[in-house]
Amino acid sequence: MARFRRYRSGSGRVVFLLVLAVCGFFILSSMQDKYGYDFGLPSLSLPGMEELLDELEAPSPDRPISSQVVERADLKVHFLDVGQAESILILAPEKTVLIDAGENDQGDLVVRYLKEQGVSSIDLLIGTHPHSDHIGGMDIVLNKMPVETVILPILPDDLIPTTVTFTDLLKAIDRAGLEITPALPGDVYDLGGGAGLTLLGPVRDYDNLNNMSVVARLSFGSTSFLFTGDMEKEAEQDLVEQGAPLASTVLSAGHHGSQTSSRKAFLEAVNPKLAVISCGLDNSYGHPHREVMERLDALGIRVLRTDLDGAVVLASDGENIEIQVAQNRIAA
Ligand SMILES: [Zn+2]
Repeated sequence: MARFRRYRSGSGRVVFLLVLAVCGFFILSSMQDKYGYDFGLPSLSLPGMEELLDELEAPSPDRPISSQVVERADLKVHFLDVGQAESILILAPEKTVLIDAGENDQGDLVVRYLKEQGVSSIDLLIGTHPHSDHIGGMDIVLNKMPVETVILPILPDDLIPTTVTFTDLLKAIDRAGLEITPALPGDVYDLGGGAGLTLLGPVRDYDNLNNMSVVARLSFGSTSFLFTGDMEKEAEQDLVEQGAPLASTVLSAGHHGSQTSSRKAFLEAVNPKLAVISCGLDNSYGHPHREVMERLDALGIRVLRTDLDGAVVLASDGENIEIQVAQNRIAA
């Protein structure tokens, strides 16, 4: 055993000296190349090394809206990957907000995601408009998690759905002992720590449910986020004409990137640095539409998509917004 140890020890010494010699060679050789010294060593050239160093020194492409890393993420906005649907979680300093909850079969997925984020109750649950890809999972959320306030748009009588999805939601709201709080433009919800959610729309009745979507602007310090549900061009135009405070750092692009929405005048009024599109991979609608992607590109707005990037998490410290997670798919 002793001999074996000695042998290993000797071998270790040889390896150590060898490593030292190789390191010395590399250091001297690179000094020779860099500073023109001549140590009589062959020139060191590793294929791809220059490119690798350039890459390491280049600013990370993941932080177009912030040159700095957010150190204290006091507010986070999660755009869940729920396929061709929408669900957005806001973790504000003192309140938790869930905007939409995916399709009918995604309620459990949304609840699981929320629990993974340490969420055990919801302060504000907002259903942007009663289509199944937005409110489908809300009944499950209400059944499985305490909710303080439910906000829905007030609909004109002829648009009130008779679908099972909507009826299920009303039943779940009732079972939870809650009343519906109507979405009224101008209402401000204090989320603590200087964060606030201001409702901007819908500003009038429309003849389609998409335009009845609740529009909400989240502000935190000098950063802001605009959530638009499936709002289309008519409602966008009304907000622009009324001079609504649309300007936001991040836009949740309306109607899954459909060309019915994200018109040029609206995009210019919002003037976001980043747009997030919630849509499903290879969805049958062709969302996001090419026209919208071209408009966003022409205005220099970076795009993140849940179909390609998976769940998108944006963190704000009130000054900078950092893209913390992309490519972390939670749903097929
Ligand atoms: Zn939708």
